[in-house]
Amino acid sequence: MSKLKIAELFYSIQGEGRYMGVPSVFLRTYGCNFKCAGFGMPKGELSSEVDDIAIQHERNPYKQYKDLPLVSTGCDSYASWDPRFKHLSPVLSTDSVADGIIDILPHGRWMDEHLVITGGEPLLGWQRAYPDLLSHEKMRPLKELTFETNGTQMLSTEFRDYLQEWKRNREKNALTFSVSPKLSVSGESWNEAILPDVIRQYQDVGFVYLKFVVASEEDVLEAEKATQEYKKGGFKGPVYLMPVGGVESVYEMNAKNVALAAMKRGWRYSDRLQVPLFKNEWGT
Ligand code: SF4
Repeated sequence: MSKLKIAELFYSIQGEGRYMGVPSVFLRTYGCNFKCAGFGMPKGELSSEVDDIAIQHERNPYKQYKDLPLVSTGCDSYASWDPRFKHLSPVLSTDSVADGIIDILPHGRWMDEHLVITGGEPLLGWQRAYPDLLSHEKMRPLKELTFETNGTQMLSTEFRDYLQEWKRNREKNALTFSVSPKLSVSGESWNEAILPDVIRQYQDVGFVYLKFVVASEEDVLEAEKATQEYKKGGFKGPVYLMPVGGVESVYEMNAKNVALAAMKRGWRYSDRLQVPLFKNEWGT
């Protein structure tokens, strides 16, 4: 039986992208290949907010995710990959994860809820464990699945074949890749973040959309440039713009301009409903 290191497992409303407003189980795996310390910072600067939290944590350890402070700069799910907090993410068998999922569903079984596998970056090594999880008898009634990914990890041949099989008896578009490519506002480099071949591979298996997190007109222009690259590589899906910021004050400053920028280009606007609804707390 396979195992997964799980940062969070919770039931909430999907706040972003194609499934905005849909009741969803979120399975947040541990680990990421990026840090995204540039979010919310002046161009070229990196956030040290998490370092301050880590110092506090050394003095007086946090025992669970919901006690961790929220950040307004850098990656808002920092504890899902930062090794200083890794002890908060247990390693669980796929049986335990399936049981945990059923436990948090309101009817104790799948109805119309959607499963979001997120991170961190969920398409790192955990690809080898998902077939065990998704084939579990308690997971068979699941109708729709999304991977929220940064779009940098190729699918292994085995996992790609498995996903083709998983889709076979389900509705068209049952499998979605919500790809959030990291622009320079994140602090990550273009060459490592914008990988059209990876997105084309996802598109061969499921429905793919791009969701760019932007804070300025300059970021939107960069999103245009990235979209052209993806299209040259064969990408055919929709594009969303979403404001930066996991904290309401930051978010409100950005939202309207981001919506206008999306409209101007015929792109879609994605809110972050978890911010106004739940203040972006852990577990939402
Ligand atoms: S890719 Fe996502 S999870 Fe990873 S550091 Fe960036 S924002 Fe955080």
